[in-house]
Amino acid sequence: MDKLPNYQADFRSIRDEVSAAEWQARVELAACYRLIDYYGMTDLTYNHITVRVPGPEHHILINLYGLLYKEITASSLAKIDLDGNIVCKPDTDYYVNKAGYIIHGAIHRARPDVRCVIHTHTRAGMAVAAMKCGLLPISQTSIRFEGHIGYHDYEGPAVEREEQERLVRDLGSHNALILRSHGLLTCGPSIPEAFNLMYQLELACRTQVDAMAARTDLVLPSKETLATTAHLYQPGTRRPYGILEWPAMLRLLDAEQKNSAFPPYSS
Ligand SMILES: [Zn+2]
Repeated sequence: MDKLPNYQADFRSIRDEVSAAEWQARVELAACYRLIDYYGMTDLTYNHITVRVPGPEHHILINLYGLLYKEITASSLAKIDLDGNIVCKPDTDYYVNKAGYIIHGAIHRARPDVRCVIHTHTRAGMAVAAMKCGLLPISQTSIRFEGHIGYHDYEGPAVEREEQERLVRDLGSHNALILRSHGLLTCGPSIPEAFNLMYQLELACRTQVDAMAARTDLVLPSKETLATTAHLYQPGTRRPYGILEWPAMLRLLDAEQKNSAFPPYSS
């Protein structure tokens, strides 16, 4: 009889086997998975969040395919190169999803300013991704994306390398992308900033779905107000959004973990 696959989800700590900088990146990335879960942005075990490992090798950390975001720990993450080759991963039959590194690898390769990429399939994100009008600037939360978001047309599941250049083209220099008929993507120079932007984009999409479902005419600010407001929310204008908020996010996770049977993200 064939051996059953090893789909255990308890992972031994590799803290002593990686550099301090890589461990820090692992803990932050695991925290980000937990936060995406906490704020209701998961899709069973699908999707990925990736971060570039500090150092010259251009390696990225990614989740094993098959774990809940609630189960992801610093030690459970796989390290891959930008072509999807495994550099190291836990001793388990869980593997790395090809569509993950097609989307994430393309952006990490093309955008050296980006350290973290987040992709989701939320109900509100998919709803707005299905709307011809795209994301509307109907709230302060969504106005920050006015002129600062790209759109990528659907080509089927992202498993072909040829799609990578079109993904990169459609993202351009933005940090947010709506994948038509598919979902949302944000990226940023750090995990806290990419997470904060995804939180804002998700909230903007939820708000738009609610407002449009009310079947009434919507108010849009003037072009000048939109442009000024969008500018005021860019990371270089006032402050990089997400950095101030991050310690509070970690306190939230630490408090949540006290009542959780799932392993601590920092293990
Ligand atoms: Zn996807």
